Amino acid sequence: MSSQSVQVAVISGDGIGPDVTSAALACVDVACKACGITAPEQLPIAAGAGYFADTGDDIEAGGELRAGECDAIFLGAIGLPSIRHADGTEISPHLRLRDRYQLYAGVRPVKAYPNAPQMLANPLAANIDLIILRESTEGLFYSAAVHNRSHIIDDVEVQDTLRITRNTTEKLHHFGFRLAQRRKAAGYAGELTCVDKANVFTSMAFFRQIYDEIASQYPDIKTAYQYVDAQALELVRKPWMFDVLVMENMFGDILSDLAGGLVGGMGMAACGEIGDTIGLFQPAHGSAPDIHGQDRANPLAAILSGALMLDYLCDKTGEERYAAAAARIQSAVNAGFTQNRLRPMEFGGDMGTNSVTREVLQQLAA
Ligand code: ATP
Repeated sequence: MSSQSVQVAVISGDGIGPDVTSAALACVDVACKACGITAPEQLPIAAGAGYFADTGDDIEAGGELRAGECDAIFLGAIGLPSIRHADGTEISPHLRLRDRYQLYAGVRPVKAYPNAPQMLANPLAANIDLIILRESTEGLFYSAAVHNRSHIIDDVEVQDTLRITRNTTEKLHHFGFRLAQRRKAAGYAGELTCVDKANVFTSMAFFRQIYDEIASQYPDIKTAYQYVDAQALELVRKPWMFDVLVMENMFGDILSDLAGGLVGGMGMAACGEIGDTIGLFQPAHGSAPDIHGQDRANPLAAILSGALMLDYLCDKTGEERYAAAAARIQSAVNAGFTQNRLRPMEFGGDMGTNSVTREVLQQLAA
């Protein structure tokens, strides 16, 4: 596939979504050009709570299918608390995309940047640089959202199912080991920690059993195990010791917020959700209606999600210049913080969405 034909579906969505999306795509564009490659073509797709209020649909006709036919999907943020379905649930077409395209590998980098807020006093906290790999289609979320498979027994009991399948778990662990391999090549420890509760739940013992089976195929990667409660403790005590952590959906939901909180806030939390045929990239934060329209949103989570998307496009197309463009964005953000030229308002700084974006663009061009 040539870079000329690579297409990205763009769902800007609601609230601060459109602002951080245009910031991210501007950076993707400049980084690609700087690496001598054409930026992916953009296919805008209308979706979200605002679209629902206007039309009664949460995504434009055929939008789900068209998004899946692209090479990747970039999403800003979806949902507004004031606009809901009649049953009170939020407008969530992105959850259907996750389900329809089985985006099982949720990649959530957690990295400490110089001069960005850190919650831990230990100077080693400056070295936090890990990835939480959260299974994103089954686990304890299997019952929730799209499928609504909760089992309600009269008015006295409700049961939710924690589902672990061999098929998804094998793919997840392969993904984790390959990710650890790539990081090892870039100088990281090359370790994949299996986070579970295998001492209590049969489903988790199965998760770990499959991890062990797959591990034997990656002898160059160090293996490690943590029970999820101990992992929570260690993420507060010595998060700088970890490289890649793989876990079930609900554990990943909780621990990625905990880890994200150690190094800043929602405006730094990038996210990729990757399946067999397509990946969806979005900042982990929501539409932040409280700051919408005020040029206060930190666009860095979206910009760093753009870098994750470029890495994915490198894998998908074999075009190494996408990976170079991704690295260029990461270096630009790192340099901006190191030089104290990135001071997002989210952290009490003086720079809004536009100033932060301008600074990253300048670093990219330097
Ligand atoms: P969702 O359920 O969709 O994640 P939420 O209401 O739980 O939405 P957010 O929309 O992420 O969460 O907002 C939570 C808080 O974080 C808000 O105070 C919001 O202003 C802040 N916030 C979120 N994203 C950013 C950002 N990029 N920059 C600055 N502040 C942000």
